[in-house]
Amino acid sequence: MLNIIKAHAVKNLCYIAAQKMVPQGIVVHSTGANNPNLKRYVDAADEVGVNPNANHWNKAKPGGRKVCVHAFIGYDKNKQIRVAEILPLNICCWGVGSGKKGSYNFKPAYIQFEICEDGLKDKDYYTKAFNVAAQYCAHLCKQYNISVEKIVGHCEAYRLGYGCNHSDPEHWMKKFGETMSDFRNRVSEILKIDEVKIENKDETVIENTSIQKGDLVSIVKGATYYNGKSIPDWVQKQRWYVKAEPTGSRVVIDKSENGKHSICSPVDEKYLIKVQNGEDILPQGNKTVSNKCPYLVKVKTDCLNIYNDVAPNNIKKGAIKDRGVYTIIEEKTDCMGAKWGKLKSGAGWISLDFVEKI
Ligand SMILES: [Zn+2]
Repeated sequence: MLNIIKAHAVKNLCYIAAQKMVPQGIVVHSTGANNPNLKRYVDAADEVGVNPNANHWNKAKPGGRKVCVHAFIGYDKNKQIRVAEILPLNICCWGVGSGKKGSYNFKPAYIQFEICEDGLKDKDYYTKAFNVAAQYCAHLCKQYNISVEKIVGHCEAYRLGYGCNHSDPEHWMKKFGETMSDFRNRVSEILKIDEVKIENKDETVIENTSIQKGDLVSIVKGATYYNGKSIPDWVQKQRWYVKAEPTGSRVVIDKSENGKHSICSPVDEKYLIKVQNGEDILPQGNKTVSNKCPYLVKVKTDCLNIYNDVAPNNIKKGAIKDRGVYTIIEEKTDCMGAKWGKLKSGAGWISLDFVEKI
């Protein structure tokens, strides 16, 4: 049974940017460093123990990098291997980088977690850690209606064109003769066992499945409206928001996920799958008020990079190292929801996360 630690990294810039997502798949990473303890990455002393170096990821830029994943798997303070979620699963993480075709960080947005590596020689730790990872994936597949084929390793994300070139976690799996296909098979096995359990009704089905006002739902194939009329294909293929608190099994779906349609139609709850909980309220976003350009800013960091454009396809052109005052003549918001400002000098774009308006 998974007993997930929730310890959101509220100081991480990724958490603050809070770009909304509906999970389309899962990326499995491993950390690439010999430290199997969650406390190295997760700021939750009660559950994982104290990190004496405080170099966990509950900070703006862990290790100076703009990174964050949804969860880590490793030892808690009692040497139990557990999952610790550091981001809500309805906001994009900054995990896999980007490749030729795009990035699983955003479009399509995948849930991403890191398995804490040890010295890569202990078969017992390897087996247990990947078993917890497989259980976690099975749980996520059920919760978000994700198919097992949509679980990929970072290395595979790269090969598919949606991530940067890393070899995790297969470089570790290889040492024990396994591949990501073996991992997916393990997740499928867990899901099959769970289905049998559900049929036998000797265990409660997934927690928190009852549909409520504000939830995002998908419609199962062959579903009908509450009055028995068939649901057209174009409606069935989209995801919808639940309009009001359901009465019995009667659920009224209204707005489409893409905001283009409003159908206000009752459907029986049994035909709906909850894909996102309406109660998962987003953290306060990075609400930098859009300023009227031009305006002056003071740089608050010793080294602020200048880029030719905004993230993610930007190239570094230089840096500001004088904590000086600069004029911003244009603003842009990047795909991560972060704000950028164009320098009057024509030198390029800087992140507005590290300046203050004066
Ligand atoms: Zn990775």
